[in-house]
Amino acid sequence: MTDPGALFARYLQQRAAMGESPVILDTIPMKVEQGRGLDRARPSSPERPGWQRGAPAIPPTGIVVPSAEKDLFSTDPLNSMGLDELAAAVHQCTKCILCRERTNAVPGEGPRDARLVVVGEGPGATEDETGRPFVGRAGQLLTEILAAIDLPREQVFICNVVKCRPPNNRKPAQDEMDACVPYLWRQLDLIRPKVILAMGNTAAERLLNTRQSLGSLRGRVHQFRGVPLIVTYHPAALLRNPHWKKPTWDDIRIARQLIDA
Ligand code: URA
Ligand code: SF4
Repeated sequence: MTDPGALFARYLQQRAAMGESPVILDTIPMKVEQGRGLDRARPSSPERPGWQRGAPAIPPTGIVVPSAEKDLFSTDPLNSMGLDELAAAVHQCTKCILCRERTNAVPGEGPRDARLVVVGEGPGATEDETGRPFVGRAGQLLTEILAAIDLPREQVFICNVVKCRPPNNRKPAQDEMDACVPYLWRQLDLIRPKVILAMGNTAAERLLNTRQSLGSLRGRVHQFRGVPLIVTYHPAALLRNPHWKKPTWDDIRIARQLIDA
């Protein structure tokens, strides 16, 4: 999409999707040359992307989860698996009862060298049908959010705390998460992204090993085994409550700045 009009329209759509309503033209980084109309406008500085405008400062450190001690003599096969082998193991996995009702396990997807890893709760109906993470309505919103910070979804590793769908989308039980998180830990160890984005309570609580509310976990840069971790609302929650779009947009832009840092 190189047509400036189409690009501009997409930019407005993204801002509207992020809860900036009404979108006010004078907040958009457009240079309107004297005596000329908007049709002659050009972005004022091409090197400064739109998402940076009004982005919050990077907040102070929060919870620090230390690196796990490496057991040199570990015989756990997971510790020698690459991402593809891990995905194959997840497809075969019967370590918890969520295997019984799944259509497809959903290991997660994205490149090995992703700078951002997004962690959700667990697959929903569409994810269970397709075997892919975040492809339902919430997933579409996530894809738009990532595009708005110039991160095409294909460049991001996207996964969940549990890899099989909990029946009726209930929250995964403690023992199910306990059984499944070694896969997530291995994924994070292999990818070692620049930033982890925990979306929603389940991911935040599990990654940070805390019961603190999502509201209190926002606005800080936590550390998970040496990787900066940002907590934000789950996109499914945003679909229910549009008031959370603006705070989410702030969180996402903090994460984006940390990727560049
Ligand atoms: N919600 C999640 O937490 N994960 C998905 O993959 C889809 C919806
Ligand atoms: Fe295995 Fe995780 Fe699926 Fe449970 S949810 S069966 S632990 S892959």
